Amino acid sequence: MRVPFSYLERQFADPEPYLEDIRALVSTGTFTLGEPVERFEKHFAALCQMPHAVGVGNGTDALLLSIEILGIGPGDEVITTANQFIAPAGAIACAGARPVFVDCDEEYMMDPGKLEAAITPRTKAIITVHHNGNVCDMPAIAAIAKKHGLRIIEDACHAIGASLDGVPVGSWGETACFSLHPLKNLNVWGDGGVIVTRSKELAQKLSLYRNHGLKTRDEVVMFGHNSRLHSVQAVIGDRLLGQAEFITNRRIEIGKRFDAAFADMGEDVRVPPRRPNVKHVYFQYILRVRRRDELLAFLHDAGIEAKIHYPIPIHLQEGAKYLGYKPGDLPVTEEDSRRIISLPLHQHLTDDEVAYVIDTVRSFYHAA
Ligand SMILES: *Cc1c(COP(=O)(O)O)cnc(C)c1O
Repeated sequence: MRVPFSYLERQFADPEPYLEDIRALVSTGTFTLGEPVERFEKHFAALCQMPHAVGVGNGTDALLLSIEILGIGPGDEVITTANQFIAPAGAIACAGARPVFVDCDEEYMMDPGKLEAAITPRTKAIITVHHNGNVCDMPAIAAIAKKHGLRIIEDACHAIGASLDGVPVGSWGETACFSLHPLKNLNVWGDGGVIVTRSKELAQKLSLYRNHGLKTRDEVVMFGHNSRLHSVQAVIGDRLLGQAEFITNRRIEIGKRFDAAFADMGEDVRVPPRRPNVKHVYFQYILRVRRRDELLAFLHDAGIEAKIHYPIPIHLQEGAKYLGYKPGDLPVTEEDSRRIISLPLHQHLTDDEVAYVIDTVRSFYHAA
């Protein structure tokens, strides 16, 4: 059996409905912004239970534009985590600010207990990454942010549909940022991103800022970026929004099955603690395991495309050298980078494939 990490082949086995939508778009000639993007933004905001959504070029730009629109730049520090995809740290640096890293907790997310020690007089904001479709301890982080007068930006690129006590992601930050990258839970046929916010004023500013600050074709009210969500991608995204519930529910179903299957494996396979009040939407399925590299090879030999997210923490990347971090600065993050493994988890896995992954992992530890 072969269990693929990517689901694109299965998801788009019949591309006809999407191509029909694109044909209809071509006949209108509305290739930048306009009705297709507005329609998608409206539907996306509704799905997120947020009043405003602004489509942008990609998830990284969603973060960058959010940072810049809050007036954060050179001389400022922004706190985030290092066991991530590079995008949040990169966006902070591209805005001219300095990324500052906090270690993570047992759920692979920002440890609120270590947050205050990272705050300096230059700190302006915190980017919380809802890693894997889990939700950070936002009440604790928001209380610290409030005490120190810091802004919050939520990186929700993994977490569409996730919530805490029924409160959707995006509720704590000035903005929340989503990616529509082909391998994110809600995807399109290329790059795309969305910023959601509760603030009408911020939504209006961001709508201008992603489009050169143009109020009309001829009048600029602020200098800005060219980071529009492409109309073709908005059309694809709008069709896929119809699958959002199926995608989320099937991912949760498989995630819970994995959780239950590995619950008795102790330190060989450690399932992270799961808070019952979190709706975790399982972007990836990450475990902390013994003999990680051997397990990875064993799974690959068995045709299971497991991966590591991520093998090199951001603070130890060559690109982060100028920040002055050294090994040992973020002990949990660094230990995780040696012990974590991501099993394939997506809405197009069959029950048989899920059972095969479970059996293969268990047999590696002789826990048949
Ligand atoms: C994918 C991702 C991004 C960036 O999204 P792009 O659309 O690829 O730019 C940002 N943050 C996290 C946590 C991501 O996984």
